[in-house]
Amino acid sequence: MIFSIDPVPGRHGKKIPLHPVPEACVDMMSDTLIRVLSDKANVIGLACRTTDLVNLACRLHGTTPTASAALGRALTGGLLLGALGKPGLRVGLKFEGNGPLKKILVEADSAGTVRGFVGVPGIDVMVKDDGKLHVSGALGTEGFLTVFKDVGLDEPYQGIVKLRTGEIAEDIAYYFVESEQIPSAVGLGVFVETDGLVSAAGGFLIQTLPPSEETTIDQLIINIRKIGSVTDVLREGKAPEDLLSLIFEGIPYKTLEKKNLSFRCTCDRDRIERVLISLGSVELTHLLEEHGEAEVGCEFCRAVYRFDRSELEQLISDIECAGPSGGSPPNA
Ligand code: ZN
Repeated sequence: MIFSIDPVPGRHGKKIPLHPVPEACVDMMSDTLIRVLSDKANVIGLACRTTDLVNLACRLHGTTPTASAALGRALTGGLLLGALGKPGLRVGLKFEGNGPLKKILVEADSAGTVRGFVGVPGIDVMVKDDGKLHVSGALGTEGFLTVFKDVGLDEPYQGIVKLRTGEIAEDIAYYFVESEQIPSAVGLGVFVETDGLVSAAGGFLIQTLPPSEETTIDQLIINIRKIGSVTDVLREGKAPEDLLSLIFEGIPYKTLEKKNLSFRCTCDRDRIERVLISLGSVELTHLLEEHGEAEVGCEFCRAVYRFDRSELEQLISDIECAGPSGGSPPNA
């Protein structure tokens, strides 16, 4: 079983003005994820609503509607993958395509937080003939999806597959089949209003485990086809629980977990300081002489960290005190 439902019935809209949110951490209490299991049928199901966190991410990055749809689908996919793993798991999804968006990078964890960005957030709005936002046109259909998984071991896991359609959901489903040999169905949806606001975002991930029953898989396929679009369900005011009850109609299951989701960046001033220190004293002195200060932006959340003259001088002095090996952060 490999297919995806990835409709984006969004329409042409205006560019969202960029209003940076000062704090890098914002909790979104109304975005949730639910995980269920049908032990009789060996099926795992996850569904989530991500409307608020996708809106926040799009506002932070100033994405135009097609880029918003692409980023929203990838953020939602990342959260679904993260929720499959054990506590402490961090996953990364990197989509690289031959379209104008160039790439999408998202990182999520098993606790339900995610961050991400796209290569070119201000791409022209691309719409398909049927009026839906053209995500595969933006990302491109030629390219790669790389999945990273870090469970705290020395070597993080990495799997690479070719992009199947560039529509995100189908690419993730294809990754599971190709790279992990797990039959999966993935549905992702982002509805962008004409004013650029995301009024619904969410998705589901269904996986069958061996031994799987043919009749159960057939039933799941019928149920998923009946839903039509994830955003249609969410825009009716339904919750992730309702989405799963539609997908599992006729198949008994039990709920394992429900959690809140949020957009949260892991950057902070200490980390940025370590990046500056890693440049070395010569480079930092050059920066100081040239600009008198340093400004470092985080790609994931657009937070900007400023270091004035005295702070830079302190960093240079710290590096020089650390000795010729340099580069190692103070108090590390
Ligand atoms: Zn950040």
